Amino acid sequence: MNTASYTASPGIPPVLRFAPSPTGLLHVGNARTALYNALFARREGGTFILRYDDTDTARSTAAFAEAIAEDMDWLGIVPDRVEHQSARLGRYDESVERLKALGRLYRAYESEEELDAKRVSRRRRGLPPIYDRAALKLGAADHARYEAEGRRPHWRFKLIGRQATWTDLVRGEQAVDTATLSDPVLIRADGSYLYTLTSVVDDIEMGVTHVVRGEDHVTNTGVQIEIIEALGGAVPVFGHHNLLTLPSGEGLSKRLGHLSLRALREQGEEALAVASLAVLTGTSLAVEPVADLDALAAKIDFGKISRAPARFDPAELSALTAASLHQLPFGAVAERLAALGVGGGEAFWLAVRGNLVRLSDAALWWGVVSQPLEPHAAPEDAPFLAMAAELLPPEPWDEGVYPRWIAALKPASGRTGKALFHPLRLALTGAGSGPELKALLPLLGRERARARLLGERG
Ligand code: GLU
Repeated sequence: MNTASYTASPGIPPVLRFAPSPTGLLHVGNARTALYNALFARREGGTFILRYDDTDTARSTAAFAEAIAEDMDWLGIVPDRVEHQSARLGRYDESVERLKALGRLYRAYESEEELDAKRVSRRRRGLPPIYDRAALKLGAADHARYEAEGRRPHWRFKLIGRQATWTDLVRGEQAVDTATLSDPVLIRADGSYLYTLTSVVDDIEMGVTHVVRGEDHVTNTGVQIEIIEALGGAVPVFGHHNLLTLPSGEGLSKRLGHLSLRALREQGEEALAVASLAVLTGTSLAVEPVADLDALAAKIDFGKISRAPARFDPAELSALTAASLHQLPFGAVAERLAALGVGGGEAFWLAVRGNLVRLSDAALWWGVVSQPLEPHAAPEDAPFLAMAAELLPPEPWDEGVYPRWIAALKPASGRTGKALFHPLRLALTGAGSGPELKALLPLLGRERARARLLGERG
């Protein structure tokens, strides 16, 4: 199969999902998975489901679920459908009954300590440390005895033990030999369901056509294909992308709060830059600013994702944030500028955007344009600046005023280059570098410009 040119089957709108567990803040690696799914669905006219894997009630919290919704919103991902596994327990009960009736679920009573001891002993004997299926031999009398002892069973899925194969969107032909795996526990002793079961039931019932997730799930896929087939579901297309790491090469951890979207947002990184880098890092595609998420969606190509883990570089992100700001149209930032108290409309935005590292820098430049500034000029430049003030053209001002002014000032002062421009910039803006004076001057207005050139607070 030519993965590089992969698109969804013609005429069948794909259904994809992102299934985070609300047990921590999303990091850029989670964003990578979310974006591959959401943007592929969007590009192919499909459906994108945000599904909270929240059956682990000990670790899931409503606060983390809210934070996930907020982060997705910040990235610009709008799910077509939102599901919570905790609200679907009845659906899992039904599937469990079917698996029991098929003889594919069996009770086991070993404690964690007993399982550990078995693993150690198998290793010592040179055997793979998988579950020995001792519980398969238990009869009704054994069950009764365990129950009388107060033990509650957990339930394991009986694997057939065969090569589970699929054509992976990213990795091509894949095979997992389920004979080398432990029969997975699908129901804990406290009756709660594990992700392996709930995820499969949901994928079948929600008509998920493509499961795109991190390569840490490759082995699970072997197991899940067996469960899907046991339940009579259609096996979706799988794609396992490489994982992102810290610059040190250490894997990202939600629990340790590595590179969380929230922290990156608070640092002032642009959502579009985070999204672009999360999608493009670890692929053979060039990292470059994109106009919007649709442009990023157009670039997604599962065949171009590398197989090796990829380092996410925060320095590269800051550079991409700046580059993204430099090309953003006013309409894309107007609301956020207003929230920062920045006025000046499109003219101000176009004047300063090329000098921003973070969007909040716009507020600094807005202060320079709209608030009085302490005098900055060097005393030896005072006569030159007084001449410059005299030569300021009369208002009304537009972008043509600056070249006209300089054309008069140059011959009158005999100055050129840095000796001409630097004192003007310093007096007018209080800084040695910044946005083009051509664009700033009309925003300052004649009165303010004149005061600053004359060394007055203005
Ligand atoms: N909750 C799982 C995870 O975050 C979902 C994996 C999947 O997509 O199936 O790893």
